[in-house]
Amino acid sequence: MSEKLGLFLFSWILSWGFTAVKQLSITYDYIVNDGVVVVTDISNINSANNNDSLYSPDQQISNEDNLQTEEQSSSCDDEEFWSATSAKLIKGGDQIYLAFPNNPLKNKIVNLNLNFIPTTMSYRSFNTSFHMHGIKTIKVSVRDEFDTIDVNLIGGLASNPIESWDVQLQALGVNNKVCFTKNVLSLAPSSFSNYVNLESFYVPGVISPADENNFDINLFGKNEIANEMEYLDYFQNIQKLKSLNKYLPEPSEAGVSMLTKTVYLDEKAKLVSDSLWYRNILHGEVVIGLFGDVKKSELEVISKIIKLLHIVAPNLDIKYSDNAEEVNLPIHIVGCEELFSQKVNQCKDRAAGTFTPPNTYGTLERGKFGYIWVDANYTPEYRQHVVVHELGHALGLGHNLCYDSVMSYSDYAPEVPFFTVLDLMQLRVLYDSKLPKPLGEKYTIQTLDLDYEKYKEFDEGEKNVCEAKQAGWSDLVEFQRGIIEIDEIYEGKK
Ligand SMILES: [Zn+2]
Repeated sequence: MSEKLGLFLFSWILSWGFTAVKQLSITYDYIVNDGVVVVTDISNINSANNNDSLYSPDQQISNEDNLQTEEQSSSCDDEEFWSATSAKLIKGGDQIYLAFPNNPLKNKIVNLNLNFIPTTMSYRSFNTSFHMHGIKTIKVSVRDEFDTIDVNLIGGLASNPIESWDVQLQALGVNNKVCFTKNVLSLAPSSFSNYVNLESFYVPGVISPADENNFDINLFGKNEIANEMEYLDYFQNIQKLKSLNKYLPEPSEAGVSMLTKTVYLDEKAKLVSDSLWYRNILHGEVVIGLFGDVKKSELEVISKIIKLLHIVAPNLDIKYSDNAEEVNLPIHIVGCEELFSQKVNQCKDRAAGTFTPPNTYGTLERGKFGYIWVDANYTPEYRQHVVVHELGHALGLGHNLCYDSVMSYSDYAPEVPFFTVLDLMQLRVLYDSKLPKPLGEKYTIQTLDLDYEKYKEFDEGEKNVCEAKQAGWSDLVEFQRGIIEIDEIYEGKK
């Protein structure tokens, strides 16, 4: 835990349409971008692992040494140099051959990147957000007059492929500042063979079969009847978990109060009002998928959260799918590299994770729950924390300043990879079966038969919500922490 102290979670919400209208009334951090309001919602990171940085310091130093000894006749943006530079596809399209009139270092080019930029990508649209995985940067040698680069790219979904890539040479001078860029090729998926469709991450045996959207019961490897019996067992286990909902602590005034507040980026120490009316919540059939640079530990976290939600939100039909086409709540795990930051979400030095709420004016049913992005350049432990934090947003949670919450903005809060008592108390309110959808606080209090005066005490700060932890949640926390098995919770309640 201590190594992670000093790291802060940082995420933001891109929001538009209806949500944007709501957010406009709040005086926080707005960046108006092509008429789209971008709300940055958490701040601060300082320790992305840049192990695979494109600009290794060693390389840089030796290049600069070299620069001083080479003749320095031309500059980086020298027209003659660039007009004589050529790029062509070879080996049936699977390699790009680059030729320069002289070695780029002679033109004070210290680093040279070949960037692959999907032309159909838009971070704002659910479907083309999958194209963020097609962004790639490959380092080109600056010491030679030619270089050969392998073309090896990830496309979009089979149903919505990347239509083409712009292939761009990007030259960086001393200080690693971009000094020239040039589009050298356009690539279509049909023009090379090392192209793969984006797929949802899967490792057998992690997700319970009945929590998989399209589990193939033949994988049990027995006869048909035995397989169906086993599957039925898993299915009944879900029903058992849902039946545990009635043993949970009741919805609380403190839970409602926490839901009516949040914390924004530029005022990290300040709790502010956040209406319950427009809360993003999950409903109906939710299908999660993990995409990109995923680790098994992230699938394990999802497996636990799904089980937990069977108990806390039994009306939710939430599953995981290894079929990308079925996923309606994708979690994209991609490293926040320079080009990615520039083209996708300006994550560099700003965000470790984001939740992008659905476009409520949109007609794309599949995108009705929005999507999550998590920076792959972190330790597995911290990534798990970010995954759970962003899922918290997808489920309807805002930020708080309590010590003990996965949604905390407090600098002192440990980055836990699970929903704590305070988080569970809020989920209990949001997903109570008496609430048809998020209501304002008064209606919520009324519908859940709570005491408005008690709520006011928390709301007005007479009582501290952070200290209002209910008893009765410890087994759900222990399950998430791997201390007890989910079956033990059921056995204990029978
Ligand atoms: Zn957040």
